[in-house]
Amino acid sequence: MDSSVNYIDNVATDGSVKSTNKKNISRDVESEIESLCKAVPQLAKTFRIIEKIGEGTFSSVYLGEARMRDGSREMFALKHLIPTSHPTRIAAELQCLTVAGGRENVMGVEYCFRNEDHVVIVMPYMEHQAIVDIIGSLSFEEVRLYMYHLLKALRHIHQFGIIHRDIKPNNFLYNRKAKTFALVDFGLAQGTSNTQIELLKDLVALRKAPRPVFSEKNLNSSNSTTAATTKREIKTQLVKPVKTGELSSRRFLSGRRGPATVRPLKTHRGVHQHLTCNCFQTERVCNICLSRKQQVAPRAGTPGFRAPEILTKCPDQGTAIDVWSAGVIFLSLLSGRYPFFKASDDLVALAQIMTIRGSRETVKAAKAFGKAVLCSQELPRLDLRVLCETLRGQRPNKDAKSISKTKPETTDEGAQKQACETPRPHPKSRDKTLKPSSQRHCLVHDERGWDTVPDEAYDLLDLLLDLNPNSRITAAQALEHPLFKDL
Ligand code: ADP
Ligand code: MG
Ligand code: ZN
Repeated sequence: MDSSVNYIDNVATDGSVKSTNKKNISRDVESEIESLCKAVPQLAKTFRIIEKIGEGTFSSVYLGEARMRDGSREMFALKHLIPTSHPTRIAAELQCLTVAGGRENVMGVEYCFRNEDHVVIVMPYMEHQAIVDIIGSLSFEEVRLYMYHLLKALRHIHQFGIIHRDIKPNNFLYNRKAKTFALVDFGLAQGTSNTQIELLKDLVALRKAPRPVFSEKNLNSSNSTTAATTKREIKTQLVKPVKTGELSSRRFLSGRRGPATVRPLKTHRGVHQHLTCNCFQTERVCNICLSRKQQVAPRAGTPGFRAPEILTKCPDQGTAIDVWSAGVIFLSLLSGRYPFFKASDDLVALAQIMTIRGSRETVKAAKAFGKAVLCSQELPRLDLRVLCETLRGQRPNKDAKSISKTKPETTDEGAQKQACETPRPHPKSRDKTLKPSSQRHCLVHDERGWDTVPDEAYDLLDLLLDLNPNSRITAAQALEHPLFKDL
């Protein structure tokens, strides 16, 4: 992707998509571009579509070149939304870009083409690097700047009452050389109760209606438990808080079900809503519980970046979910591991969060937002500095061998053990005078600044990864954090 601009210079501009791209792109992409031009004929009149630069569940993104009126050439990103997208969903995405975009590190929009059910959003093209490719070579200063700009984009969209819902590096474009940043992809965005984006209000009504096209596979209801990435077998259960004496409201959503022990019962939906059962805190879900109505809550986004309130199906979700995702990105950048969390389902994801943030702390936070979480084993909260430095190889670790390169998403037990042994600073140590890390530890010297990461960085990380959305720092507050005082 980084050579795309040079590539254009090498290509004769005869206007024909087919002939110019033959040697450089695959047949599949070539025919895709061809059918796109057929579906939206106006597109081919304006752009020479050069290559495909992105593909997600709901769209394909192409690089297009346009000859401007003054004879100059400009590059654009053309986002073709899947034709089955709901019209309100498409219009809401576009409205987020037009109302909030084009400033404060949020991508803007230039044009939009539509032909029948095909919609193409045209944005300025921003050359960028994938985090996975550069994470190993980033300096601490680059990471600090990246987080500052990400938080700036979040503050901006949150001011408009936009919850992005899919904050992750792939949706935050970063041009390392130019030090430019752009938040993209409002395809899953939702509005807060007082959002300024009119169409996001309409989405609330849409959300309540059945969504046959988009409904995401609910991993909770599948029995996919194979790819548990946490090394220890931790069992997590999610149950509704129990009103006194009302066992019937308990639900068990663990992925580790013991189907063999479930006795078949003649039942139909609704019959058992008021019955009590005794499968609570056991490793099986009884048929009474299986017949209960599912809790409905938004859970769009990427599992490893989902906040605890999403994972526990809290129906009341706000802009704090984006802040959590920013925290996961920060954790990833500080530890040099990407992706940091990778989970097959929401409960595995919750267990992974517990291995870092502590099980008791998670249970307590969940209780604060009305969810009861059970964990089969007590997991201590880790010292974030020790964890990141160990994963980064900065800290001599006797168990270093166990840090698996093939599984960067798992948290390392050695790191965890060491982190537990180190006295952790007060969690809200924001205002304290902080000593530079080099005075406290003997770290491997690193010219990219990884041996002198200030305590402020881990303090901010701790505040972003606050398990409780109600006390979690906001993007606006985070920008005022001492870590960014000179920016
Ligand atoms: P999706 O909903 O399919 O994830 P995105 O809007 O996130 O769509 O775009 C997918 C990918 O396309 C991005 O991760 C990025 O690599 C690329 N992309 C999107 N917009 C632009 C842009 N304006 N400039 C350059 N690349 C872009
Ligand atoms: Mg995306
Ligand atoms: Zn039961």
